[in-house]
Amino acid sequence: MNDNTCRVIAQSGLPSLQIRRRRRAVSTLALVLLAPIVLGAQTKVTPPKNKYTPEQDVEIGLKAAEEARKEFPVIDNDRIDDYLDRIGARLVEASPAELNNHVFQYSFTPLNLKEINAFALPGGPMFVNRGMVEAASREGEVAGVMAHELAHVLLRHGTANATKAQGFQIGALAGAIAGAVVGGGWGELISQGSQFGLGTWLMKYSREYEKQADLLGAQIMARAGYDPRDLGRMFETIQKSSKSSGGPEWMSSHPDPGNRSQYIAKEASMLQIARREDTSTQFESFQAAFNSLPPARSMSEPSRNSDRGEGPASVGRIGDRVPPPATQYRTAQGGRLFQVNVPTNWQALSSNNSMKFVPQNAYGPVEGQTVFTHGVELGVARAPSRDLREATDAFIDALARANPGLRAAGDPRTLTMSRRTAIGTPLVGQSALGSRERIGVYTTFLSDGNLFYYLTVVPEEDASSYAAAFERVGNSIRLNDGR
Ligand SMILES: [Zn+2]
Repeated sequence: MNDNTCRVIAQSGLPSLQIRRRRRAVSTLALVLLAPIVLGAQTKVTPPKNKYTPEQDVEIGLKAAEEARKEFPVIDNDRIDDYLDRIGARLVEASPAELNNHVFQYSFTPLNLKEINAFALPGGPMFVNRGMVEAASREGEVAGVMAHELAHVLLRHGTANATKAQGFQIGALAGAIAGAVVGGGWGELISQGSQFGLGTWLMKYSREYEKQADLLGAQIMARAGYDPRDLGRMFETIQKSSKSSGGPEWMSSHPDPGNRSQYIAKEASMLQIARREDTSTQFESFQAAFNSLPPARSMSEPSRNSDRGEGPASVGRIGDRVPPPATQYRTAQGGRLFQVNVPTNWQALSSNNSMKFVPQNAYGPVEGQTVFTHGVELGVARAPSRDLREATDAFIDALARANPGLRAAGDPRTLTMSRRTAIGTPLVGQSALGSRERIGVYTTFLSDGNLFYYLTVVPEEDASSYAAAFERVGNSIRLNDGR
């Protein structure tokens, strides 16, 4: 990280905390004032089951936010900060008291990124892309996306996702949860290995959570004096842009539950929009403030201040022909943990907790998810049990939750990997290419009790041309964890 970035972080971090404290007082007062307003019938939105405490949400979110501020270009502009803070405060004030936990620490940080995206982390930190603001045609549309994100925070969807994943988490807890919120390429940058590639487990909200965030977001908007239909309009803009650019950014973390605009409009018809000062005329000057900034970066450009070696968003194009494994092999290092031999035509994609090796056209976005159709992944996962069979089952359960249709294709076998006892489990699933795919999961324990896995993926029709390579790669794995 360079000094300039440090300065920006320090400046944007501290004032936002002060603003937050001031706002909390305002927030309580506003809720008292709002209470007597009788709203029409509205859909009751109940937070999902969650085994984390709100304090843990905050802790996890602050840590992930720190990462985000290092990875992404934070905009340091008073006019933009103030405007965003004002919308954010207005929405927080309009949040239902029973969900607005007093421990939450809200902040609203503009990022100089061109994708139409925004994300919120557990416990309150929210990030809004310049691309989102520039694509909006009025303040209500920006407020709509922010209300949706705020609803994820209030309903604690990030840690609810982690709760669903039960005892199994890949990588650091904070990383996994940040990934859950962020999704796509961003998730990779922040979560560093939480992304699994086989679909995007733990990487995105379920459609059910999305609908909850839409409905609660609409309710908050109405209470804050915004027309909830603006949220539906912004989603249409996002949808159009992700179709035209093929950009999966927003959709990858916020899958469309279907009929979005319709049910938002229906909810809106039940809501009474609070009367508030009209700030819409200020929106144009807010948008204009972005013109003075350096050009927006794309999230797929590697961060200058990142030393993490995250890979590209895709390797070739999914759907194009995938070449068979080369007959020549090279040795690759997985940090200090392992070494492995892989075909020379497989590209390495590394992150903190895992490494993939994929041939051309085998890794990239499909309908908003990053998938990998051919290749291998080696990585470390937290094991909920000291029993290899139980730990493996938990690992496969987590995979299956994120990859509906994944099922056993035979009995697990005991074998050896790097001269230690391992379990090999054959699975079949649905390939992103439409056909069936074969997945092999090989697991063994590391000396620290974590699970080491070697995972192979190939569509059924290419299985025979990959079998020998998968075996050779597997046999070459050498673990260096001193066991
Ligand atoms: Zn969402």
